[in-house]
Amino acid sequence: MSYIDETIERVIQQNPSQPEFHQAVKEVLESIRPVIEKDEEKYRKNALLERLTTPERQILFRVPWVDDNGQVHVNNGYRIQFNSAIGPYKGGLRLHPSVNLGIIKFLGFEQVFKNSLTGLPIGGGKGGSDFDPKGKSDREIMAFCQSFMNELYKYIGANEDVPAGDIGVGGREIGFLYGQYKRLTNQYEGVLTGKGLSYGGSLARTQATGYGLLYITEEMLKANGIDLKGKTVVVSGAGNVATYAIEKAWQLGAKPVTCSDSTGWVYDPDGIDVALLKEVKEVRRARLTEYAAKKPKAQYHEGRGVWSVKCDVALPCATQNELLIDDAKALVKNGCIAVAEGANMPTTIEATQYLQQNGVLFIPGKASNAGGVATSALEMSQNSERLSWTFEEVDAKLKGIMINIFHNLDKAAKDYGYEKNYVVGANIAGFLKVLDAMNCQGIV
Ligand code: NDP
Repeated sequence: MSYIDETIERVIQQNPSQPEFHQAVKEVLESIRPVIEKDEEKYRKNALLERLTTPERQILFRVPWVDDNGQVHVNNGYRIQFNSAIGPYKGGLRLHPSVNLGIIKFLGFEQVFKNSLTGLPIGGGKGGSDFDPKGKSDREIMAFCQSFMNELYKYIGANEDVPAGDIGVGGREIGFLYGQYKRLTNQYEGVLTGKGLSYGGSLARTQATGYGLLYITEEMLKANGIDLKGKTVVVSGAGNVATYAIEKAWQLGAKPVTCSDSTGWVYDPDGIDVALLKEVKEVRRARLTEYAAKKPKAQYHEGRGVWSVKCDVALPCATQNELLIDDAKALVKNGCIAVAEGANMPTTIEATQYLQQNGVLFIPGKASNAGGVATSALEMSQNSERLSWTFEEVDAKLKGIMINIFHNLDKAAKDYGYEKNYVVGANIAGFLKVLDAMNCQGIV
């Protein structure tokens, strides 16, 4: 059996009941097959793939907190420090009831290659909890965040591990987490990113993932002789990534017509009104029914369904495994020309393959949503030099990074004979740098 197949089998056996982690490992290892099979015996002897697929450190902890009625609750806390070959661990914290060890491991594994692709010195990690922030008071959120940090602070630091936000963790949560870290350690350092502007945050971090997604989409289309201007764009999600993807799509001359949340979705034939979306989701933290109530032409539908809307470009920006094989078929049937992932692993392997086989340009999240972590790394740089850059400076750097990522993965795909297969290109380009650093650092 080949070393890659052996490794996939071992990962499935050693990590039972973690389907998302298996899926992420399979996707990456299948893509790097051309690299590994060139020198399989050497890599096997060095147990390279065992080291690559086993986190350097896994931290699991109890998070007790008290609600507004005096009731005590206990949640599970996680921090997976996956790989530090090219820099301190870096990756977000996710607060969502669906969080479990397998999901955090899949996200941490993906993060290793994504961070490598940015060209910046950051390793890969991820964390979070099965705590559900929905419907909680600000005091309850603070109580949870403080309790979470009471344990996490032992394992993080500006040169060690620098968490950020993810689903359920925005500016409010980062603020509470940072305050508690400072209280416990007496250190005012860049230990978290996504901070508020008054205490070390970076301009353009909030917009970075969504903006970056559009910069790379525009570049990919350009490389294929297509102009983003005038295109109809379908977006899922209504959170941080989706909102700023919609905003930048407008700015680049495209028309975003949908958004969604975990209960339903909106189709607005006039294009999504960004100001209204921000008011509903960022300010009032309400459902999308409130968007539809204010826009007579917009249609609200319960459940999922954005992929059934006719479009040129599709941007899944909500969560993992939200674009399934039937959705891929609907997109192809409706003439979609490109899919760029804003979320992490939103497209199943089957759906990805169907899109690629039918000529749809497909760029995976580890490349296309890397703008968030890249700007987090720019926040770390600003914290280290104790300076703040202007919005325009950060945005220009972000754009440069996204364009670079596209050309690196495009080149890697061509070099290995997989032209236009941007999944293979992204995995190989991300992997080669990590491989080199791991080789130089010996068996650790
Ligand atoms: P948010 O929490 O801001 O928004 C998530 C959105 O997706 C919400 O609209 C939410 O609906 C919806 N959603 C969440 N879970 C589900 C589900 N199980 N089914 C259907 N809809 C769901 O998160 P972000 O925008 O920050 O993150 C979105 C994705 O992008 C995630 O995969 C994340 O890992 C990835 N990502 C985020 C980065 C960032 O900088 N924020 C960077 C790189 C990747 P509701 O409002 O009902 O909760």
